[in-house]
Amino acid sequence: MKYYSTNKQAPEVDLQTAVVKGLAIDKGLYMPENIKRFPDSFFEKITEMSFQEIAYEVALAFFGEDIDSATLKGIVYDALSFETPVVPVIGSIYSLELFHGPTLAFKDVGARFMARILGYFIKKQGITDVNVLVATSGDTGSAVANGFLGVDGIHVYVLYPKGKVSAIQECQFTTLGQNITALEIDGAFDDCQALVKAAFLDEDLNEKLRLTSANSINVARFLPQAFYYFNAYAQLRRRGIKDDIVVCVPSGNFGNLTAGLIAKKMGLPIRRFIAANNKNDIFLQYLLTGFYNPKPSVQTLANAMDVGDPSNFVRILDLFHHKHELITQVITGFSCPDESIRETVKTCYESTGYLLDPHGACGYLALLEKLQPNETGVFLETAHPAKFKETIEDIIQKPVNIPEKLQEFRKGTKQSIELSKNFLELKTYLLKTN
Ligand SMILES: *Cc1c(COP(=O)(O)O)cnc(C)c1O
Repeated sequence: MKYYSTNKQAPEVDLQTAVVKGLAIDKGLYMPENIKRFPDSFFEKITEMSFQEIAYEVALAFFGEDIDSATLKGIVYDALSFETPVVPVIGSIYSLELFHGPTLAFKDVGARFMARILGYFIKKQGITDVNVLVATSGDTGSAVANGFLGVDGIHVYVLYPKGKVSAIQECQFTTLGQNITALEIDGAFDDCQALVKAAFLDEDLNEKLRLTSANSINVARFLPQAFYYFNAYAQLRRRGIKDDIVVCVPSGNFGNLTAGLIAKKMGLPIRRFIAANNKNDIFLQYLLTGFYNPKPSVQTLANAMDVGDPSNFVRILDLFHHKHELITQVITGFSCPDESIRETVKTCYESTGYLLDPHGACGYLALLEKLQPNETGVFLETAHPAKFKETIEDIIQKPVNIPEKLQEFRKGTKQSIELSKNFLELKTYLLKTN
């Protein structure tokens, strides 16, 4: 299958090039040329399929022309080898728990999948020196670092904002060693993202190094995120719910929501989406006014969504042919300030016993406020609350148990390289170490 750039000023490429390059040369994001629509019969039999079986069918639709089916099946089953996501109900709202992977956040699915696809292509080409640059506000770095840990031929550089990620998140990418290097940037997440973008556009660096990204700009990272929307539907349908489903997606860079929109385009019966933002509500403002006005991000309790210029916004525009009125028919916005996050985590816990994380809290509250009586709401619970231990304990005034998987990370020693937000410093460092 061919992939085109959202800017339409670059040649179409195959999957291998889209994955290895990350960003198109015209600075656009790659999009699949065809989005296959599943027949109704697929959705009827979906209740009898496992998560891995469903994901494999979806993966075939995107990657089946470029990767032989036995290899693809292996990649899907291996990337999703952790337990099947579960969908508990809180009152009348469903929580699609996406935190059962190795770093307890939804990004594990995309990161593990991408690591295996990229590993496959570089092995095929005999390449041994691919550098993955990834900017993180916390969760991406841990998922990508762990997803790529020990993959031959790939070195990962995680750029993260100094002092702006939680202690546990930081352990998850600064203690691994091997092919993972943590770069501690004196700046905000947006600075880290800008540095990564600048590196991709820098001629010297690209001449001397093979660079790619593992942020959701990479098609091998964001497309697999479509898998769990299908799984959510299967889970609801098993309980007899198949109409008027509303999915609420706590959003930062909008990779997750974009994957959901693609799943809908593939025929998945989702009626509409709600994009839940924290105080960084550029997307909500766009929906309300039709004007996209990126701003520097502000720090919030839901820090994985502290994004002032969401990279996947261009993909959403592209999917809807740049028509604001079409976008607002399918997506409603929501903004959840820190006070509401606190209030929601506290009241939900006290009244139902369910412990939300700060990101999921934005999604849950959006559904409480925006769901119509005939609709069934499911929000993506994007991370385990223990990843935000300090914040959650401060809100509920009770200790939060740390799952075994997270405890392990805390035993390591932090190793990081401190850099300023000046691009030249990063460039010099990368040239020196490669
Ligand atoms: C990354 C992340 C988000 C935002 O996802 P996007 O795809 O960037 O919109 C939300 N919640 C958590 C916990 C995350 O790690």
